[in-house]
Amino acid sequence: MKKEIKDLFGFIKNSPCCYQAVDEIRKRLLEAGFTELFEQEAYQIKEGGKYFVTRNDSSLIAFCLPKEKPQAMHIIAAHDDSPCFKLKEEMNMQAGPYVKLNVEKYGGMIYSTWFDRPLGVAGRAVIRDGDGLRTVLYDSDRDIAIIPSIAIHMERDINDSHKYSVQKELMPVVGNEGTDFNEILAKDLGVNKDDILGRDLFLYNRQTPVVWGDSGQFIGSPRLDDLECVYAGLRGIIEAESIDQMSVLAIFDNEEVGSGTKQGADSTFLTDTLKRAVFSLGMGEEDFCRLTAASLMISADNAHGYHPNYAEKADEANRPHLNGGIVIKHSANQKYTTDASSAAAFKLVCENAGVPYQTFVNRSDIAGGSTLGNISTTHLSVSTVDIGLSQWAMHSAYESAGVEDAEYLIKASKTFYSMNLIKTRTGWESEGKE
Ligand code: ZN
Repeated sequence: MKKEIKDLFGFIKNSPCCYQAVDEIRKRLLEAGFTELFEQEAYQIKEGGKYFVTRNDSSLIAFCLPKEKPQAMHIIAAHDDSPCFKLKEEMNMQAGPYVKLNVEKYGGMIYSTWFDRPLGVAGRAVIRDGDGLRTVLYDSDRDIAIIPSIAIHMERDINDSHKYSVQKELMPVVGNEGTDFNEILAKDLGVNKDDILGRDLFLYNRQTPVVWGDSGQFIGSPRLDDLECVYAGLRGIIEAESIDQMSVLAIFDNEEVGSGTKQGADSTFLTDTLKRAVFSLGMGEEDFCRLTAASLMISADNAHGYHPNYAEKADEANRPHLNGGIVIKHSANQKYTTDASSAAAFKLVCENAGVPYQTFVNRSDIAGGSTLGNISTTHLSVSTVDIGLSQWAMHSAYESAGVEDAEYLIKASKTFYSMNLIKTRTGWESEGKE
């Protein structure tokens, strides 16, 4: 298996949910020489420095500053959450001789894909620590639950447009009568059960990622949407050459539930962080507006690849395929932020990186999905292009994508962060550094 793909798989395995994803990104950034900043404290920032800051343990923004004052920002935004099931506050449910976990849905998923797979539980807990509180991450790190299907003999219509009830049919079995998940949690964390005062816990698919296909051209994995783009952006900002502009990687939580949280794309997190960074370089509000006007943001979230079993679902001309290159997404009603200017700028990036690109537009009779680009630009009004990698089975517990596409995006993000790309009065100015 190629080194890049093996490392992507490791990244996804270490990121069962948004909290572990942020922790994994943090570890990799620290190893690469980035310094962690904390929103509660004054930022000690210097020209030429590399920094990152987190919010709510689930969103993270990393940035690299040039040696001189920057003229533009090169931003990649992606999301670290995936549709899944969240454990309710009272999570133990007795059912005959068994105990089920009481869950509710987080985001919109394909229910049928969650049945009959080994599941883990991951998230965070807030525990009593002396007179205060301390947040700790939790990962069961073992196959702890399964949502068993009903046998075909007992539900003959299960294959005929069956409508699933989350409350009735999607509750995972965790143990026998008397099992208390709070006790499991306390034991795993090595704390007293009564000292756990808060929990954000999610189910995740324990199945490992694989390379598949007759020539190993596809990948299958949980959470490709959107950890594949998160990973590519991270590789880019870590490995890019130092440049004259400001590089920014913004990883947001809560895209799957509309982004409207204090740490989501519809929050002040990005503008707060960028302003604090820019102001501490001795630049002012006027400089920040100039910087924003000269910048490009790449909103990276996976795209629907042409599906061989559902050809009729794709637009006849704008149908990207797996391993066909990075997908540039367009939408007349601006569900995607791409316009002629930002699309052209991104094509320049791809050309400099030597990677192919293709286009996606929804069929005109299909509403399609949404992403974080147009939400983020209401806070930071910057030229933005929506892109992604073609995949199948979006929001399944196990999705598929192309091996080559994953490599293309790593290359493109590295190139983007290494370029001098500045929006001018009339178009873009670019000076590649490949
Ligand atoms: Zn997504």
